[in-house]
Amino acid sequence: MKIIPHGAAREVTGTCHEIQIESDKGLKRILLDCGLFQGKRSESAVKNAEFPFNPAQDIDAVVLSHAHMDHAGRIPLLYKNGFRKKVHCTYATKDLAEVMLMDSGYIHEKDEEYFCKHLAKSKMECEGPLYTQQDAIDCKEVFQGQNYESWFDVCEGIKARFIEAGHIIGAAMVVLEITENGKTHHVGFTGDLGRNMLPIIRDPAPMPPVDILICESTYGDRLHENISTAKEHLKEIVVNTAKRGGKVLIPAFSLERTQEIIYDLHVLWDKKEIPAVSIFVDSPLATKVTDVFMQHPECYDKEIYEQFLAKAHNPFQFSLVKYTASVEESKALNGMPGPIIIMAGSGMCEAGRIRHHLRNEIEDERNTILAVGYMANNTLGRRIIDPEISEVRIFDQTYQKRAEVVHINAYSGHADMEDLDNFIVATEGINKIILVHGEMESIQPFSERIKQAKNGVEIVIPEREEEIEIL
Ligand SMILES: [Zn+2]
Repeated sequence: MKIIPHGAAREVTGTCHEIQIESDKGLKRILLDCGLFQGKRSESAVKNAEFPFNPAQDIDAVVLSHAHMDHAGRIPLLYKNGFRKKVHCTYATKDLAEVMLMDSGYIHEKDEEYFCKHLAKSKMECEGPLYTQQDAIDCKEVFQGQNYESWFDVCEGIKARFIEAGHIIGAAMVVLEITENGKTHHVGFTGDLGRNMLPIIRDPAPMPPVDILICESTYGDRLHENISTAKEHLKEIVVNTAKRGGKVLIPAFSLERTQEIIYDLHVLWDKKEIPAVSIFVDSPLATKVTDVFMQHPECYDKEIYEQFLAKAHNPFQFSLVKYTASVEESKALNGMPGPIIIMAGSGMCEAGRIRHHLRNEIEDERNTILAVGYMANNTLGRRIIDPEISEVRIFDQTYQKRAEVVHINAYSGHADMEDLDNFIVATEGINKIILVHGEMESIQPFSERIKQAKNGVEIVIPEREEEIEIL
């Protein structure tokens, strides 16, 4: 058996790990995830365009952990290049992937249009988008939904089972049973490992004993704020901003973060801990994703079940919340007096409707800008939360940062270093750990701690395309 990382090797995007085995019916090759490389356009465009295999002939199946684009985002391209076998995933991931891949197709179309108009030095550079919305629609036919905790056949010699990852709705870790030349290996793949106590979704399930573990390392060197403080913090911000008659602007990722905030606001409203402030979800993508959340109560945790479903309450619909559809409705929010809450994408303020709201509201000291996610370097979101910066450029104009800026980090959907350590210690039977999905600054200290905790375990920190032989 061989494991070959085609992406997310010493970096965080482009997850795609190939497993090769010799079976009675010849060489079998499957992929764990097939994600997009993200980051600098010039670098990621090259990595995204080519597969190091022939999708039409070489790959027998894909097992997909979850619907984030750095894990699922190249499936339309795989299909476009002739792949017609199955993509196995949970039912919620199947529905979410449909929405997210359409959006990704749209972004690729727009991105290519902009590139050709403004940046390309010659027509030769304009080769068309990586894939289109139509490609995203076409690839739907290869998705195969699976239940959590049920074994299914992936191909000759390989069986798989999804277990809860606690990361986003539908997200799973993968347990593989692989038989080659009469010998059986158990391989675990974390996908993205989540955290305990996140709103809506269940906590990560324990990984059963595996001899090989492919483990993510995103926050191998960092701790998060405690999730139990997040709702209280959110309450304070809404109450204080409402007292000033201001607006709370929340730049939020459409998938998971937006639904978590709506859910927490709903709980706070039911307990009358926040005043009657209108909440606008101003993002067509977030609205579509919220619909998928409503269709998959099988992924909810006990708390949401007891507080809402058992009482026939919809967690994402209540009297204060409105989902804006048209651009006109979105524009109408400008003239609306506070107090109100507006949630819009993109999460890092680099695109989407949030930029319009920020432009209109950032200079009013009654308002609050509430960051609830990670803000990468060189994004508008990062400049907004940076206390050293007093003015920002939005749509080529400079604005003074007079609104209050608050950052709640506790909603992160990723395990932090303590969660990762506990997960490794609790997983029995490991001979070999393959560390992926992390920058070296996270992987290195994580691997040192594993050496201390798991004496004798072999740790591999592969480069892209490195072939890891499993005997
Ligand atoms: Zn993820």
